Amino acid sequence: IRKIYESKVALPSETVDGSKVKIMANIEEAGEIPSVLESRAEGVGLFRTEGIVLRERQALASEDLQFDQYQRVVEQLAPLPVVIRTLDIGGDKELPGNLFGREQNPFMGFRAIRYCLKNPEIFKEQLKAVLRAATYGKARLMYPMISGVRELLEANQLLEECKLELKERGEAYSEDIEVGSMIEIPSAAYTADVIAENCSFLSIGTNDLIQYMLAVDRVNDSIAHLYDPSHPGVLRTIKAVIDMAHEKNTPVAVCGEMASDPVYVPLLVGMGADELSMSPSLIPEVKFMIRHISMGSARDLTEEILSLKRPRQIFRRLREFYRGVM
Ligand code: PEP
Ligand code: MG
Repeated sequence: IRKIYESKVALPSETVDGSKVKIMANIEEAGEIPSVLESRAEGVGLFRTEGIVLRERQALASEDLQFDQYQRVVEQLAPLPVVIRTLDIGGDKELPGNLFGREQNPFMGFRAIRYCLKNPEIFKEQLKAVLRAATYGKARLMYPMISGVRELLEANQLLEECKLELKERGEAYSEDIEVGSMIEIPSAAYTADVIAENCSFLSIGTNDLIQYMLAVDRVNDSIAHLYDPSHPGVLRTIKAVIDMAHEKNTPVAVCGEMASDPVYVPLLVGMGADELSMSPSLIPEVKFMIRHISMGSARDLTEEILSLKRPRQIFRRLREFYRGVM
């Protein structure tokens, strides 16, 4: 069956009635460039940079070391866009050595943009590396774990400082790089309109959004059965984010695991997601799904799903729809 999906991977990602849904790749290193190209992704929707920045155990990678990696990816994939996500340190991402000390609730703790805003010298090295790499193709910048617009504006302030400093150094950099915000915290989800007004795109991180909506630690096996993308609270929230962003003419991507699960793909498409970003190996099956549904049927499905009240009922209906297509 995989062979059938793979044989169709070069075909455009659009529904039978011609609606386009961009399929993007999630990557963590330059070594994945060949699989991105092979998968026919329309770009990289999520370049996780923790592996690059935390390469050595004790120290974080310098601006030049980071630039090297980002530049390779951006240049080799040009003209395809590459969304580089800034450091999402903390949470489940291992902290190097004892650099930051232990926390009782790492997922609610000193993580991602919070860490970066408190450590501007570290954050700015990454921002400068990305700004420089962006002159080699089409790079975009994305901040993780934004809880409200204030953090976005603060990060952008540092970004402007970086541009000035690069200018003073006489370095080539992109003046007008597009900036996006991840939506993975409930407070950001319900202020998505405000955040959308202040950036170029949103990307829903369902892995964290589900964890925070349901208060279920995403790496705790003993409560894994409670981690449920079918919860109506989760689904209504995703729909609300997409609607709020679209009201501000801001495109929305989904880059968590849900985006690569063919059972949920028709629903996300029906909700109006503009892009789905996933591991390159999962792209053929998702594209096959998109090419075999109509936007009309996806919207009908969405309406029906949002009227259902129980997670199990929802999942059963989604699976039934999936089986009718695949
Ligand atoms: C997410 O939270 O859905 C996401 C894509 O980011 P990560 O899995 O890296 O936290
Ligand atoms: Mg996340």
